Amino acid sequence: MIDLHAHSTASDGSDTPAELVGNAVAAGLHTLAITDHDTTGGWDEAVAAVGRLDVPFTLIRGTEFSCIHDGNTGDDDGPISLHLLGYLFDPEAEALKAERARLRRSRLGRGEAIVDNLVGAGYPISWQQVLDIAGGGAVGRPHIGQALLQAGVVDSVTDAFAHLLSSSSPYYVPKLEMAVDVAIELIRQAGGVPVIAHPWARRRGRILDEAALRSLVAPGLLGIEVDHLDHAPDDRARLAELATELGLFSTGSSDYHGTRKSVRLGSDTTSPDSLERLLSHASGVDVVRSPTTGHGQ
Ligand code: AMP
Ligand code: FE
Ligand code: FE
Ligand code: ZN
Repeated sequence: MIDLHAHSTASDGSDTPAELVGNAVAAGLHTLAITDHDTTGGWDEAVAAVGRLDVPFTLIRGTEFSCIHDGNTGDDDGPISLHLLGYLFDPEAEALKAERARLRRSRLGRGEAIVDNLVGAGYPISWQQVLDIAGGGAVGRPHIGQALLQAGVVDSVTDAFAHLLSSSSPYYVPKLEMAVDVAIELIRQAGGVPVIAHPWARRRGRILDEAALRSLVAPGLLGIEVDHLDHAPDDRARLAELATELGLFSTGSSDYHGTRKSVRLGSDTTSPDSLERLLSHASGVDVVRSPTTGHGQ
């Protein structure tokens, strides 16, 4: 089984990168992508963990980039936030590296602003507590959710997202995001493979329409994450058709976040054929195979 989207403590997952690799093996996966938000910070620890495995396993190094699109033509609702997965890009490619640093820096000021709003409304959490929970990883709303959980304000992080942390909450503050066409181009320039993450996750907010999705092919989009928890069956079917029509490959992934979300590793998976297509475009860094992995695994 192949799962191409998972988070670690390098961003808002709860497994360390080494634990993530161990849990992927335990879940029966033979290929996993580590895709933390706006960082490659978990890569080295995950690589080391794969080096210690005594079962066949392949690690794909990636990042989930915070992006923004101008908005759908014909509505006046403005820009749309979205996520873009980049796989196997060169982490030293300067322009993309600078963008990751900029995105992570903005997560700090923005996280503190959300916490200030919540504290101002009387919720008993603190910014230091959130920083401690994040433990040096890219800070996100799930860390604030964890603080609210510790304070007994909510029963789960998901619960925190229903009101206090949602983008329509009075406490919400947006974070900096990259223009998605620029992100696609920079990932390609760095030898990486851009795949749009959960494009029709409707419950998270506004989504790109078909025309907007089509427009991402010109800057160099290569794949669509079709099978994802947040996609309804009819949306999966239509996205798969669209991918075929546009010459893009389709992926399926869990978007695992450890205990911060209920989804399990391998809950959605990618076909070997799509993985082959992904790998055929990658030239930034190699996949990492465990010592016992035969070639082509
Ligand atoms: P941020 O990157 O700080 O804007 O926070 C967004 C992150 O929160 C996403 O990447 C998810 O990991 C997480 N998230 C979004 N919606 C929910 C939800 N309803 N329940 C739990 N986690 C969520
Ligand atoms: Fe996340
Ligand atoms: Fe995402
Ligand atoms: Zn994700």
